[in-house]
Amino acid sequence: MTPTPIASKSIPKASRAILDPANIEYTSDKQKRAVAELVEDFTVTPEMLKAIKTNFIESMGKGLERDGETLAMVTSYVMGRLDGSEVGSYLALDVGGTNLRVVSVHLNGGGQIATRQTKYRINENLKVGDAKSLFDFMAVCVDSFLDEHQIVVRGDSQIELGFTFSFPVLQTSINRGTLITWTKGFNASGMVGKDPVAFLQDAFNRRHLPVRVAALVNDTVGTLLAHAYNHPETCMGIILGTGCNGAYIEKMSNITKWKGETPAEEMIINMEFGAFDKERVVLPLTMFDNKMDRKSVNPNKQILEKMIAGMYLGEITRNVLLNLIDRRLLFEGNVSADLNQMWTFETAYMSTIEADNSPTLHATRKILESTLSFSSTTLNDRQVVKLIVELVGKRAARLSAAALAGILEHTGAWQQKAAIGIDGSLFEYYPSFDTDIMDGLEEVFGPEVRKNVSLGLAQDGSGVGAALCALLASKYS
Ligand code: ADP
Ligand code: MG
Repeated sequence: MTPTPIASKSIPKASRAILDPANIEYTSDKQKRAVAELVEDFTVTPEMLKAIKTNFIESMGKGLERDGETLAMVTSYVMGRLDGSEVGSYLALDVGGTNLRVVSVHLNGGGQIATRQTKYRINENLKVGDAKSLFDFMAVCVDSFLDEHQIVVRGDSQIELGFTFSFPVLQTSINRGTLITWTKGFNASGMVGKDPVAFLQDAFNRRHLPVRVAALVNDTVGTLLAHAYNHPETCMGIILGTGCNGAYIEKMSNITKWKGETPAEEMIINMEFGAFDKERVVLPLTMFDNKMDRKSVNPNKQILEKMIAGMYLGEITRNVLLNLIDRRLLFEGNVSADLNQMWTFETAYMSTIEADNSPTLHATRKILESTLSFSSTTLNDRQVVKLIVELVGKRAARLSAAALAGILEHTGAWQQKAAIGIDGSLFEYYPSFDTDIMDGLEEVFGPEVRKNVSLGLAQDGSGVGAALCALLASKYS
């Protein structure tokens, strides 16, 4: 079981090349009507955005009152803010969904951080096998990272590690918690209701690694802390990657379910907002969302996440394409063997298609014909595909905006300088995701929100944040 490191790649981010539906030469009135219907079904109007935001704020309130609500509003046990002066060396293990990352973090003070990291892919069998194998794999990755970077620990001392475990966990202390449910395609047996820190520490101990799990961190909390290290006005950490979720700084007096001591006035809340609208009262779900949800490993759960996050957008798009194909309104009714398989239409393809500004939609053609093995495509096919991608992508960004607006309104943070740190490949690479979110915020708060609120990429925030959390943990104890 030797883990294989993944080389990191950097893809420049493009902006969306907008296709006007009025400029498409439709093959038939029927096709034109079908597209118009899709535009209607996938458009989040400003009124809808505000209604979702209002409902979101109500859900936040319920989650702050008691456990077991739709928004878990998990108390992170992270209190106190950072000012960038903190120093020390830590390890971080970031298990996000798609990849596993081991990071060594050196906090040099003055907001300066040096990191070294190695990424490993978590194979599908491990995600749904037994929990012990999954955690043994994590320990193997940390072990090989220590070797690779020649990190040596002397005597009886131990390296402190912050563990970013980005699944819904009911936290009971800074380094204790229990898994509420698996998400994002994971379903390893014997873990729900158990403490992931104990599993990880046991796996380290089995390999005699001199590593102590000092903090259990959600990636949203880590992202908030990481962004705060060099933007002290940070009020929120958001993930837009495989899944979606957010954390923000809440006043202790608003966390009415909190029964513990209150040594500080504020605590970071991990919202678990991907679960929003389990009741399905406000989100504009389409038949394509429902189909994807039904076939996912966690049907009826994480409804908002499934409309926003990277794991799902491609599959929703694929469902729309199949529907048009079955009605003989696209690709002359022919499907390629590849497109006929679930999860083959990757969200990364959507980024390429969105950015495609060539008159013949050359990049789109390449994806359809070279990657997805369509023998040929017409310009009309490619235009319709591009339009559908745009609808699914824009809806995701506008729903993200509704959630962010909810948090900003609840905290009042939009009225002063506020930074939002965002981590995740979807935000990083998807064309115009940031501008779509800002446009949505402006619809809610008016133009001054642009002056106050900034969206910043907190790249690998979850790794750095875990180290910062390990540091905060040792400060308390
Ligand atoms: P994690 O959530 O595991 O920490 P990432 O933040 O890298 O990992 O997010 C991975 C998700 O991002 C995947 O679901 C993938 O579909 C999506 N993704 C990867 N590359 C792109 C891209 N170029 N454009 C849009 N989405 C992408
Ligand atoms: Mg991540």
